[in-house]
Amino acid sequence: MTSTITPALFIGHGSPENVVLDNRFTRHLQYCGQQLVKPKAILMISAHWLTHGTFITTASHPKQVFDFYGFAKNLYQVNYQAKTSHSLVEQLLGLKIGIIDDEQAGFDHGTWTILKHLFPQADVPVVQLSLNSQFNRQQHLAFAQKLQALRSAGVMIIGSGNVVHNLRLLNWQQREQGANWAKTFDLQIKTALNNHDTAFLSQENATMSAEAKLAIPTEEHYWPLLYIEGVRTALDNMTWIDEGYEYGSISLRSYLLSASTNILTNSF
Ligand code: ZN
Repeated sequence: MTSTITPALFIGHGSPENVVLDNRFTRHLQYCGQQLVKPKAILMISAHWLTHGTFITTASHPKQVFDFYGFAKNLYQVNYQAKTSHSLVEQLLGLKIGIIDDEQAGFDHGTWTILKHLFPQADVPVVQLSLNSQFNRQQHLAFAQKLQALRSAGVMIIGSGNVVHNLRLLNWQQREQGANWAKTFDLQIKTALNNHDTAFLSQENATMSAEAKLAIPTEEHYWPLLYIEGVRTALDNMTWIDEGYEYGSISLRSYLLSASTNILTNSF
């Protein structure tokens, strides 16, 4: 069965410093980007834009926002200037699901640090969608399901967050390692994703697992995964883009949904 459904991706973005590093994770992102057919537009959902209500960027050239602090100077010199897609803005507002236009908002680092590796020429138009901080996981999932049809219109939907993200438990000695609890939770999510177990993935921490409250101490980095789960179709195959950890308490687990099974032939 062939399909014209555009791939969707979840990227565990990790530290902002990955934007300037050459490591296993960034090479996997670059490889993935090289294998993908450039879509008409990208809809980004990043952990770093939280709002009351759901907003989208609508400026013709949304600014690149440097929303991180205390990093090396070269991170602040990275240039990524993507333009908007007016047709995607129209499509999103036309869904009549309460999306609000925001002409002032720019692209946060959860968006541009990964697009810099996936589409380094910044030649694909991008619209970013905010995360409604008043939604619970079920509500995010239900909202995401209303975006699924965009994939049949040439839109690549990309969630940018982290399966495990606990900044209070960072261990600077573990540059590319995960703590045991982090790996345990990450593998629980891996299993749920492999089984397309939406019910598990959209549970709250209390009923999910013992490790969940350590892995998801705040919701924002987990929510983008629910968007990619929400737009998943029965035709999709899942391929891992990266499976790794950094600083003990961050998972870089990243994956691709595609009706085609052979986009990432070098994947593991
Ligand atoms: Zn982040």
